[in-house]
Amino acid sequence: MKLRDYNKKRNFDKTKEPKGTIKIKKGNKLKYVIQHHIARKDHYDLRLEWNGVYVSFAVPKGPSSNTKDKRLAVKVEDHPLSYGNFEGTIPKGEYGAGTVMLFDKGTWEPLSTPNFKSGVVKFIIKGKRIKGKFALINFKGDNWLLIKENDKYVSSFDVNNFNTSIKTGKTMGEIASESILMILIYLLQIR
Ligand code: MN
Repeated sequence: MKLRDYNKKRNFDKTKEPKGTIKIKKGNKLKYVIQHHIARKDHYDLRLEWNGVYVSFAVPKGPSSNTKDKRLAVKVEDHPLSYGNFEGTIPKGEYGAGTVMLFDKGTWEPLSTPNFKSGVVKFIIKGKRIKGKFALINFKGDNWLLIKENDKYVSSFDVNNFNTSIKTGKTMGEIASESILMILIYLLQIR
């Protein structure tokens, strides 16, 4: 079962993240999403729809539009497609505890049948903020390098220039404080 690791790592009584189920669509374009995740370490989660799940990579510095940059991308467990709408906080003590902000979304296109186990995957990202041709190059186990390939989108973006959600326009701080407020309201209600 593809999403076994995803479900095993999470307690769905405690986190608002969606439960993992596989969803294969027909004829649609492949979805792409990046979530900015401030957890134990700040990173960007790159997710590419493939065979009914999001194949996922944690990219500490996020993608670069400079072809000279080699960004580490650590492959993590597959995520359900419903995760592509998740924004909010993961409670303390839970796996991935911290704040998740929807950073970019759109579609992606593999340039040949991708093998996410090893080798090189070349693809095009068609996001709102991130666009263009990229390569993921496997170098050791789950460790890959994410590199921008030459095209008209070279130098077209810098992840550090965006600090709001692509979905709600909220900042990390607003997303984090919102859930603190929700907890307070909840605690006041049960008294
Ligand atoms: Mn993450």
